[in-house]
Amino acid sequence: MAEKKLNGTVIVTYRCNARCTMCNRYKAPSRQEDEISLETIRKLPKMYFTNITGGEPFIRTDLKEIVRELYKKSDRIVISTNGFFTDRILDLAKEFPQIGIRISIEGLQETNDAIRGLPDGFKRGYTTLRRLRKMGMKDVGFGMTVQDINAPDLVPLYRLSDRLGMEFATASLHNSFYFVESRNIIHDRPMVAENFEKLVNELLNSKSPKKWFRAYFNHGLINYIYGQKRLLPCDMAFDTFFIDPYGDVMPCNGTKDKEVMGNLNEQDWEELWNSSRAEMVRRKVRCCDRQCWMIGSVSPAMHKYIWVPAFWVIRHKLKFWTKKKYSMYELKIVRDYRDGKVTKEALDRCSTCDLHAAAANGLKEKQGDSV
Ligand code: SF4
Repeated sequence: MAEKKLNGTVIVTYRCNARCTMCNRYKAPSRQEDEISLETIRKLPKMYFTNITGGEPFIRTDLKEIVRELYKKSDRIVISTNGFFTDRILDLAKEFPQIGIRISIEGLQETNDAIRGLPDGFKRGYTTLRRLRKMGMKDVGFGMTVQDINAPDLVPLYRLSDRLGMEFATASLHNSFYFVESRNIIHDRPMVAENFEKLVNELLNSKSPKKWFRAYFNHGLINYIYGQKRLLPCDMAFDTFFIDPYGDVMPCNGTKDKEVMGNLNEQDWEELWNSSRAEMVRRKVRCCDRQCWMIGSVSPAMHKYIWVPAFWVIRHKLKFWTKKKYSMYELKIVRDYRDGKVTKEALDRCSTCDLHAAAANGLKEKQGDSV
């Protein structure tokens, strides 16, 4: 029987040169000497997709060797980066022109630089993207985490990426040990949702089926910011995993505290994946109530339960042909909030924001406590 391929995310470092307002990871970095080794990476299973992320992955000067190892076991690799280390990124792209690069840009110049706290961050990220494109790289694009301050930039940034023929990935605020955050929350939900609604309509109006499915993902983000149940089941830890800089294998990056299925520095993959500890984590996933809507957990679900987004897309394309647009009020909770049937406080309580919690950081104990 053919070996089942998984979907994996490799967090190669928790070190980061950015100072994003919605992520405290830079305050709780990993130590370089503890970070995942090539030896551990060789033990990973076959994957149909691998995301390499951080911290800032290009802080690791051996990233090329890591990618070389991962290509022996993965069909497709995408690196999430802030785009600051232009020369390192271009150098890697020369050896791996098929690789995907997603550069986090949080809005137009002023907004981006206010959120990410990187000197000249927008210009550097944007320049890196353009130079990758000039080299002939196809799989490059923007990644934006939408929140109150940058929501008005959502559609303008999408249009910019569209003009450049680039991918455009979105997310919204989450709280977890991975972000070392428990206080992220959307304050003006209708305003943020309206901007997502505009984006959904732009995507549905395009000629690209891939964009139509992205429209569904963004519709799910509106549902998420109103604190509702995920539109698709979460099957993390069943066919998808994350591995952190310490070799700890986890279901995802959305949990409040780090959930560990096993450690790949100490175990081999089969032993770890089939262990009773991994089973226990899977049971927790089955009753997880965090309702995340991040591409890492949604993309595998969209493939697995393809008929759900496919039906949504068909329904909305038909609407378009009759000149009717997508409306965020298709979601009952959005109507209920507009009609005063539910309060802001009640919606806030549905979110994972906890102003009084000390955020966990997922570091090995000797390295520090929560921030
Ligand atoms: S909903 Fe899924 S991705 Fe989010 S924390 Fe729970 S198990 Fe992880």
